[in-house]
Amino acid sequence: MAETHHTDMLIVGAGPAGYTAAIYAARAGMQPLLVTGMQPGGQLTITDEIENFPGFAQPVQGPWLMEQMREQAEHVGTKLLYDLITEASLKQGPDAEGYFHLKGDSGDLFLARTVVIATGAQAKWLGLDSEKKYQGAGVSACATCDGFFYRGKDVAVIGGGNTAVEEALYLTHHASTVHLIHRRDSLKAERILQKRLHDNPKIKIHWNRAVREIIGEGSPAVVTALELTDTQDNTKTERLAVDGVFVAIGHSPSTGPFRHEVLCDEEGYITTQPGTASTSIPGIFAAGDIQDKTYRQAVTAAGTGCMAALEAERYLAEKKYGA
Ligand code: FAD
Ligand code: NAP
Repeated sequence: MAETHHTDMLIVGAGPAGYTAAIYAARAGMQPLLVTGMQPGGQLTITDEIENFPGFAQPVQGPWLMEQMREQAEHVGTKLLYDLITEASLKQGPDAEGYFHLKGDSGDLFLARTVVIATGAQAKWLGLDSEKKYQGAGVSACATCDGFFYRGKDVAVIGGGNTAVEEALYLTHHASTVHLIHRRDSLKAERILQKRLHDNPKIKIHWNRAVREIIGEGSPAVVTALELTDTQDNTKTERLAVDGVFVAIGHSPSTGPFRHEVLCDEEGYITTQPGTASTSIPGIFAAGDIQDKTYRQAVTAAGTGCMAALEAERYLAEKKYGA
């Protein structure tokens, strides 16, 4: 049977941003409720080794790190609910008792005096079966995270925007050759990045090419090549030997039910006031990748989760609600 939950703080999302907000809010006595969505643990649950999250001298596994964050959040008093927020009424402000109204897929109602939106972003993928098959075995969407594993190897980056060019440039610090595969004959990336790309002798650009298939071999199978199609003449294909492929064709923010409730930019990222986690609606905060298209790292998501909780605590104190 559907339930109604009252809380001083509802956190939507169980990634580094949501769990960090929960840890701070729980320790401040706000008894937060955290709704996990479809991917408890967030994006890091689909990767293996994390080497750049501070505090661990040795690499840690993404799913393990997120389990630790969950346990820490629960240990200090966060209540977790495995539900998905499907509706939110935020833009008309809180009701007479100071509550915003949200609804879960389960039918549960959430009445929250503050809301931290930490629903993250998802890398866009090409949509090939082989791309799914080799994720973590040569296919990645994050050069900063996985580039290190391709020292002295040949890799490909797919895309023609700023992200693809930045990923390609970053990968030249590790790989011996970086192949940039782009479906058109000109790049979308800023000129300054394009210049750096063209000036870098380790980068080879393949114009008018699309990835038809990602090929793998061995046991366990790992990526060994790409099958490319000429986008101007679909009958022409070629094989390119690579050890890894980085898909960099953009990210989509998981703004879902919040898209028309708080101010977002044209791509759907929630707009926060500079240097804060505050959205266009007082009492509603945003943290992590949902409001960040620049850094997109676990540690920056955690940092903004902390900011959101501290700001929510201040809001509740000003309204004279809460602990
Ligand atoms: P996410 O981790 O995206 O979590 C979003 C959460 O919101 C999920 O729990 C989801 O279920 C929930 N959610 C979404 N919609 C709803 C809804 N409607 N209702 C309820 N819940 C909802 N960063 C690093 O620093 N180091 C790395 O090594 C690294 N490796 C990566 C490897 C891969 C393959 C990928 C894809 C990313 C990697 N990143 C890495 C980036 C890092 O994962 C993200 O920056 C970080 O996870 C963002 O955290 P977040 O909390 O904002 O969102
Ligand atoms: P983007 O600008 O949307 O570019 C995506 C690129 O991927 C485009 O070149 C696009 O091709 C290509 N692409 C899209 N779908 C594809 C598919 N299915 N198959 C093959 N190629 C595909 O995305 P982004 O580069 O991630 O940048 C997103 C936003 O973040 C932008 O506003 C960008 O400026 C910003 N950003 C800024 C910086 C910076 O300032 N340093 C760094 C990174 C990102 P087409 O060109 O043919 O459309």
